[in-house]
Amino acid sequence: MRIWGGLADMTPDMAPIMDGNDPIEGFYMDCGWGYFGFKSCSAVGKYMAQYMASGHCPEILKPFNLRRYENHQLMGETAALVSYTPDN
Ligand SMILES: Cc1cc2nc3c(=O)[nH]c(=O)nc-3n(C[C@H](O)[C@H](O)[C@H](O)COP(=O)(O)OP(=O)(O)OC[C@H]3O[C@@H](n4cnc5c(N)ncnc54)[C@H](O)[C@@H]3O)c2cc1C
Repeated sequence: MRIWGGLADMTPDMAPIMDGNDPIEGFYMDCGWGYFGFKSCSAVGKYMAQYMASGHCPEILKPFNLRRYENHQLMGETAALVSYTPDN
């Protein structure tokens, strides 16, 4: 009764990926929510819809871009066990 089994889509910095048009024009993603995806969906839906309708990324979504991993700009969420910096 008190256990579960399954997959949770975790990212290395425990933060979701919300991005689009990079590199494929018209392809948007909203994933990697781990354990907090459904309480965030109303706000995310609003901003992702704005992004998809206009093609311009709202300021609030910019830090969640996919290229943060390539650019060593991980979010360093407090829930993460490791604090990432550009040096590690
Ligand atoms: C045990 C547990 C507890 C949680 N508790 C909370 C909580 O208290 N509060 C909270 O906010 N969040 C919680 N979450 C997290 C939340 O459930 C998820 O973050 C959220 O459901 C993710 O939504 P999503 O639409 O991004 O992905 P998902 O809900 O995983 O949807 C992805 C969909 O894509 C489908 N799919 C996958 N591959 C393919 C493919 N190749 N082709 C077609 N379809 C495909 C899958 O079948 C699935 O339907 C919890 C999660 C777990 C596991």
